[in-house]
Amino acid sequence: MIDTHCHLDVEQFNEDRDEVLARAISSGVEHIIIPAIRPSDFQHLLSVANKSPYLSCGLGVHPHNASEFESDTADMIKLLYGENTSTVKALGEIGLDYYYDFAPKSQQQAVFHRQLELAKELNLPVIIHNRDSDEDVLSIVKEHQDEKLRGVFHCFSSSPEYAEKVLDAGFHISFTGNVTYKKSTLAECIQFIPEERIMIETDSPYMAPVPYRGKRNEPSYVQYIAHKIAEIRSTTVETMIQQTTKNAASLFAIFSLVLFFIATDSFSQRGRIDFEDEKETDIEILEHPYPKLIGIGALIGSNTIVDNLTFLNGCRKDRDQWVSLAAIAAFGAQIMYYPVEWIQLEAGFNTSSHQSSLFTNAGEPPIIDSYRNIDFAFKLIPNQYGRINFFAGSGVSFSSATYGANNETVTRIGPILNVGLMGNIDFSWGVIVPSAEFRVNFPTGARRFTSNPIGRESSIYECYRNEPEQRAILDVNTILAIPRFTISIFPKF
Ligand SMILES: [Zn+2]
Ligand SMILES: [Zn+2]
Repeated sequence: MIDTHCHLDVEQFNEDRDEVLARAISSGVEHIIIPAIRPSDFQHLLSVANKSPYLSCGLGVHPHNASEFESDTADMIKLLYGENTSTVKALGEIGLDYYYDFAPKSQQQAVFHRQLELAKELNLPVIIHNRDSDEDVLSIVKEHQDEKLRGVFHCFSSSPEYAEKVLDAGFHISFTGNVTYKKSTLAECIQFIPEERIMIETDSPYMAPVPYRGKRNEPSYVQYIAHKIAEIRSTTVETMIQQTTKNAASLFAIFSLVLFFIATDSFSQRGRIDFEDEKETDIEILEHPYPKLIGIGALIGSNTIVDNLTFLNGCRKDRDQWVSLAAIAAFGAQIMYYPVEWIQLEAGFNTSSHQSSLFTNAGEPPIIDSYRNIDFAFKLIPNQYGRINFFAGSGVSFSSATYGANNETVTRIGPILNVGLMGNIDFSWGVIVPSAEFRVNFPTGARRFTSNPIGRESSIYECYRNEPEQRAILDVNTILAIPRFTISIFPKF
């Protein structure tokens, strides 16, 4: 889920902003966009949004504050955007508000025009606020619509006819807590919006959905809106969450990991409310999935050894560069520890010596070594409360290879990179964690062979058998790809 509009920077969250964010994450919120209100708050807004990878923000001036849009405000937005391109994902919120009329209409309109231009200049989507100003907002937006302008009408509360015009103008429509109110007339509109244009938001701290109506709203409640919209559209909450997440991630160009989460989002989140049980409305703060934070595991995988051979003394005259590929079954064990809930540290060992060969590009059998690797790695797990979680990490490996007719052993050290998916299955006595991982290991430096590295009939062998004085001298650089499947246990003891 993405809460596309949440004023997490305002003072109502000063006391417990971190807890509010933690609750949101544990309820399955993958990202939150914080729109701006006024220039004097930009610095504070950015300091909040820059604190967590779960947060992005908009920059812009709300129609209530149109009088605060000064001659240098556009330049300030450009400058701050330039310094915070990874955090600032939208221009907003901007628009018109004739209900409160805090600023004269003409001033609101002028500032809206200017900010739409700015959005096109910066190639950012806009977040549009509209209250009792349907006609003017749409006509101004259309004036600027050159097929490049994109964005969302947030907190949509107008008629189905108006929604159609907004869609025609190329915009997304986002719904908030008022869809859950008894008197809501938005159902008709919610039904016909195409699935690729609909989004959800809380507009926290305002607009809390039922059953929290009248209280402070917070991003973890965005699921109530997803639930209500799913009900109106006669689809599942999972489908609604997937569609709205995908739409928000692509409109606001949110970090591609989020898009990855969508693939795993249909798995139940631990903190998600069970809507079947009407009384259960409290969102609990979750415990870490791994009870004792320490686990042990066994792995099975395949060690694909990619060797780059360089012959130094022209023993192979026809080709002095080869690539050798060999695949060997690997087995091992590891121990894991969580210092904080989103980082796993791992120490592991694997060995591979059972041989099965692939090929070389020089018509020779591959060089096959036996390997023993000792790995120290970390994994970042951005969404650790899911049933299935993505991770990526790095580390260092000590690789010891035994090779050649003389069984020489060389140990090299090098970085590793790893990505994968892990699940967690609860049992009364602990958690079982199956994991599928792709790991690449880059032992640094070349090994130098001065005897036949293949150890069987080959043209290298020929080379020094015919002329005993001349031995093949070659350097070999190696990359190890070790995809593995691991089963680990995090016991309760
Ligand atoms: Zn608004
Ligand atoms: Zn707002």
